[in-house]
Amino acid sequence: MLKKIVKWTVLVIATLVVTLATCSSTIFAAATSEPTPSWGSWDQTTITYKTSNTSSYYKSVWKNAVKRWNKVGVVQLKAAKGDEKADITLTSSQSLSTKSGKLAGYTNYSYLNKGNDDNKIVSAKSTLNRSLLTKYGYTKNQRTNVATHEIGHALGLSHSASKASVMYASDRYASIDHQDKVGLQDAYND
Ligand SMILES: [Zn+2]
Repeated sequence: MLKKIVKWTVLVIATLVVTLATCSSTIFAAATSEPTPSWGSWDQTTITYKTSNTSSYYKSVWKNAVKRWNKVGVVQLKAAKGDEKADITLTSSQSLSTKSGKLAGYTNYSYLNKGNDDNKIVSAKSTLNRSLLTKYGYTKNQRTNVATHEIGHALGLSHSASKASVMYASDRYASIDHQDKVGLQDAYND
């Protein structure tokens, strides 16, 4: 019997490059900013997640990041119940072997390739690099910013060129900005 291929998934890694800057000056948003770009979205706007294999400290970091995205009001992230399979897995790792370990966090995902920025996400896993976050003295709020950035990838957002965006590639200081809300709306409301 021929097995029908029903989907084509591609694994890519979205990387968040660590910033080594010790500057604590205020970051000013550009006067006008483009909506944060996206590469795909989930079919549904209620998306389940689970935190796995991580400490209560990191569970709380992830839960705070989840709350931030839920507040935006475009998607609702809900904790998966019991043995239910979660759409997004949120975890942390003590040792990261990717890209010389210089990543504060990263997100793996699989999606149905639609050949444009409208890919259909089918699963995602975001990981925080504990040793690096500790080594460079990230505060809990900064770790939450990194977690928020990684969930942004898991929801379909790409990197933004704006330093005020949570999706700026190498920043620990920014949280969700207006342009990120608009970018998420664009990804889910079309
Ligand atoms: Zn990133």
